[in-house]
Amino acid sequence: MLNGKRAIITGSNSGIGLGVAEELARAGAEIILNSFTDRAEDHALAADLALRHGVKVTYIAADMSKGADCRALIEKAGGCDILVNNAGIQFVAPIDEFPTEKWDQIIAINLTSAFHTTAAALPGMRTRGWGRIVNIASAHGLTASPFKSAYIAAKHGVVGLSKTVALETAGQGITCNAICPGYVLTPLVEAQIPGQMKVNNMDRDTVIREVMLLRQPSRQFATVEQIGGTTVYLCSSFADQVTGTTISVDGGWTAL
Ligand code: NAD
Repeated sequence: MLNGKRAIITGSNSGIGLGVAEELARAGAEIILNSFTDRAEDHALAADLALRHGVKVTYIAADMSKGADCRALIEKAGGCDILVNNAGIQFVAPIDEFPTEKWDQIIAINLTSAFHTTAAALPGMRTRGWGRIVNIASAHGLTASPFKSAYIAAKHGVVGLSKTVALETAGQGITCNAICPGYVLTPLVEAQIPGQMKVNNMDRDTVIREVMLLRQPSRQFATVEQIGGTTVYLCSSFADQVTGTTISVDGGWTAL
């Protein structure tokens, strides 16, 4: 379905980004994996994905906290037809104790990187008359929780950026949308479970159900495959007229 299309997924050596890469590769796209590290295991991930799906996969190291790196990623890849802005980090603290450097880092990686990569990728998409920009926002792009000021400001910003890019590209064969996942069981989230078990004196299942998924009415995690599948849908012709919107994959969180 996506044969002949090149997809760049930022922050894709782990979690949701890797899951999205897997589904785009399964659909036949050429894949560019990315993170800020440049380890043998990063390149091995690319080789493994290529072998399993019979598509070209390249790993390009670039730090999404730096504007020049964001733009260089697009250039080194030779442009792209599909851009998935996924790189993201989290930090939790009350706003009056929130470290300024953490605020700056979260805004840079979770929001500003998408400005730079989009600006760099759009001219090529316009020339080819086809493009898909998929921004991985969050349920926290639509709602708030305490102590996550930078993350929530960045994710609301990603939703606004997606709408603006959709308006600037409407009718040009290019769409831009945001996916808003609820809790997804990635290594990042998995790592929080033991601590929550200790603090709450609960077993694993109770922590997941009663603490982590308290606001997710299904009481089930979304999966990286589901986020990948939603991305493939947005890249399909079924979604040619889907632009400037958000798709929640959150077990009902934002319906509350
Ligand atoms: P993760 O930690 O597994 O993945 C984050 C990815 O970003 C990694 O590949 C990491 O290497 C990369 N990254 C971090 N800093 C980077 C930098 N400076 N430059 C380049 N890459 C960098 O976490 P995840 O849960 O897979 O999160 C992926 C995205 O999904 C994030 O934007 C996150 O906000 C969003 N999200 C996650 C959840 C969830 O429950 N897991 C829910 C909603 C949204």
